[in-house]
Amino acid sequence: MRDTPIYVTRPSLPPLGEFITYLETIWEEKWITNNGSFHQLFEKELAQYLGVEYISVFSNGTLALITALRALNITGEVITTPFSFVATTHSLWWNGITPVFADIEPGYMNIDPKKIEEAITSKTTAIMGVHVYGNPCDVEAIQKVADKHNLKVIYDAAHAFGVKKNGESILNFGDLSVLSFHATKTFNTIEGGAIVCHSAEMKHHIDNLKNFGFRNEITVEEPGINAKMNEVQAAYGVLQLKYVDGYIAERKRVTESYRTKLEGTAGIKFLYDMDEVTHAYSYFPICVDPEVYGMQRDEIYELMKLDGVKTRRYFYPLISHFNPYCDLPSAAKELLPVAEKVSEQILCLPIYPELTEDEITYITNLIITNAKGSK
Ligand SMILES: *Cc1c(COP(=O)(O)O)cnc(C)c1O
Repeated sequence: MRDTPIYVTRPSLPPLGEFITYLETIWEEKWITNNGSFHQLFEKELAQYLGVEYISVFSNGTLALITALRALNITGEVITTPFSFVATTHSLWWNGITPVFADIEPGYMNIDPKKIEEAITSKTTAIMGVHVYGNPCDVEAIQKVADKHNLKVIYDAAHAFGVKKNGESILNFGDLSVLSFHATKTFNTIEGGAIVCHSAEMKHHIDNLKNFGFRNEITVEEPGINAKMNEVQAAYGVLQLKYVDGYIAERKRVTESYRTKLEGTAGIKFLYDMDEVTHAYSYFPICVDPEVYGMQRDEIYELMKLDGVKTRRYFYPLISHFNPYCDLPSAAKELLPVAEKVSEQILCLPIYPELTEDEITYITNLIITNAKGSK
């Protein structure tokens, strides 16, 4: 047992001294929310950094997801994945939309385009995919299905900050993409999120929606919500942007170190970088095959926890197992065999910029020495 635990994630904090000078500016300006100067600067610099045309920042990712669906007037049924964070499906529920779960593909655990097509009914209006762990969905195949059936496409890109495919931001695919800047993500604004869209009109619409639906001082165009990002968060975000390349580089180091150390461990599988993709290294998931490894995922999870190493069963349980959704016809276990299996085997190991090589060795040794046949 270690004296100090190894956390599964630690927030990346920008240098405090620099942040204080930003705060001083806010205090001088006395403009603390409602599209202040840091908010405007943050959106501009974020769009540039990400390689997108239009972005609207939000107080958190969940409100951004809810607003994205509203902005596109999505109703009826939306086809989505059960293998995600629960907010993905909650955003549908909050819009009165019926979620329809489609199974994932076993390679990168993203929604399977073939299963999407099978789930389409006369009520289907959109597809909501998730770039799980930052590995892009098969965006071309999904767009093909969407075009054929006249469906909108929304991506939950909470794990895909800065992810590019053939040099193009993954956020430029689909009608809208949604980011989260929660404390646990690769890039954070403590709490925060954003919607990426592709036209000035849509950005305008989204900006109104996040501010109660106000078009101007005396005109409310539609029932909006309050999902604005404040100046303190925006300033933190501007500062954070200066350091995010360093965070990603360190996460890449951690990822590569895990791969080197775990390579060849019987019963442990992990993901490799996708060709043509620049990654965010948001997570380091492994799959524990109990037959080969000699232990269930939950057993090694508990063992590591007792030893002071916190890991995360991300995503377990599946969203389709949660109370609000488990009675949906599409939540039936027989319909989601890949997601069911992955969810029983997945384990996300600690990853954050400060994780040391010694700590990585400690973690991987626990995994390796507990493997069947290693003793
Ligand atoms: C973190 C996360 C969200 C929610 O974002 P918040 O900013 O915490 O509201 C949504 N979807 C996925 C896949 C996430 O990982």
